[in-house]
Amino acid sequence: MGKKYYQEDIECAPREEISKWQSEGLVRSVRNAYENSEYYRGKMEERGVKPSDVKGVEDIHKLPFVSKEDLREAYPYGLLCRPLSECVRIQSTSGTTGRRVIAFYTQHDIDAWEECCARAIVAAGGTRDDVVQVSYGYGLFTGGAGLNGGSHKLGSLTLPMSSGSTERQIQFMQDLGTTILCCTPSYAAYLGETVSEKGLKGTIKLKAGIFGAEAWSEEMRRDIEEKLGIKAYDIYGLTELEGPGVGYECEEQRGMHICEDQFIAEIIDPNTGETMPDGEKGELVFTSLNKEAFPMIRYRTRDICVLSHEKCSCGRTHVRMAKPMGRSDDMLIIKGVNVFPSQIETVLINNGYSPNYQLVVDRVNNADTLDINVEMNQEMFSDTLSEISARERALVGALKGFLGIYARVHLVSPKSIERSEGKAKRVIDKRKLY
Ligand SMILES: [Zn+2]
Repeated sequence: MGKKYYQEDIECAPREEISKWQSEGLVRSVRNAYENSEYYRGKMEERGVKPSDVKGVEDIHKLPFVSKEDLREAYPYGLLCRPLSECVRIQSTSGTTGRRVIAFYTQHDIDAWEECCARAIVAAGGTRDDVVQVSYGYGLFTGGAGLNGGSHKLGSLTLPMSSGSTERQIQFMQDLGTTILCCTPSYAAYLGETVSEKGLKGTIKLKAGIFGAEAWSEEMRRDIEEKLGIKAYDIYGLTELEGPGVGYECEEQRGMHICEDQFIAEIIDPNTGETMPDGEKGELVFTSLNKEAFPMIRYRTRDICVLSHEKCSCGRTHVRMAKPMGRSDDMLIIKGVNVFPSQIETVLINNGYSPNYQLVVDRVNNADTLDINVEMNQEMFSDTLSEISARERALVGALKGFLGIYARVHLVSPKSIERSEGKAKRVIDKRKLY
């Protein structure tokens, strides 16, 4: 048996102690940003705030927000607060929606990040006796580097597989007795599908998976757990903040504990910027407490979720965040209704379909249209045409009931939707092409 916590004194600290760390960290972080980044100093001056106005966590609302636009504007060095000679690493976002975000790390920043990832692995039941297969992409993406570092810190045997080469992934799981798998949920679903189709579930020793970097539903979690015979844990993070490990699930699997010794989490009303009371849904905002090279002060994540200070049975005292419904970037507005791909995924899995689908949004005669391509499984595929259209009608009804909008459903043959080895491409929004 390993330890139940990686850093018990931190993870289970009394709330008063956490507040003290947060107040001290905020003061330090604000000073670091103001003194070392002209961009931060400009933003604070514009708002009329000086570091001396921030004496503790209760003053956080005085500070201006940092948005993704700020990161783009300040690219590449505007928010950097240490000389490059003190930095040891750069990581970056994929840059699929505009200019890349580049984050800088000192060795101290890397160590703190990897400790957060080690906590996540231990919370998923990991010990130094585990074999951890990291099947996130390596390179500039933080997924591979973060979990790799966390696994090293813990002392587990680490397999830096990176993503892709599915056959080889499964071969290594079998030959080396992998017990913990780390990758995106869509890749875990694909690995699960392959393992289950080839009847290999009995030949692998996986017990847990740590899956993050994209929004996924509870239904998808159950699907992955069943196909791989594991417990599947969520992990949260952003390159802007460090990478994965900002928040992680414990054995309760009811929300992710945020590393509150490293970050202050707030929920704000995305329209007004006002702080929301505990338990209300809104946009998640983070402030880093200890980052040297790339501090983030009130960074707006665009993730919509809820925080809970309810006591957790695992003993950890850090606040929990609910699974985000998705980035507000991922949110589609169709005929005035907010739709997240993860909601559609919920309906599909509840109705017996696989999490392989694609949404096509378009505008025809000034009205939005939503078409959903959904894969049938093998049994459905052998149905007659009239049975297939009956299935389509049933799914249209289920989606209308859940989302409140009409979507055309097209059932397509098994395996016809491309599988993803990283983040899945679920949405084609043709409205953006005009
Ligand atoms: Zn817990």
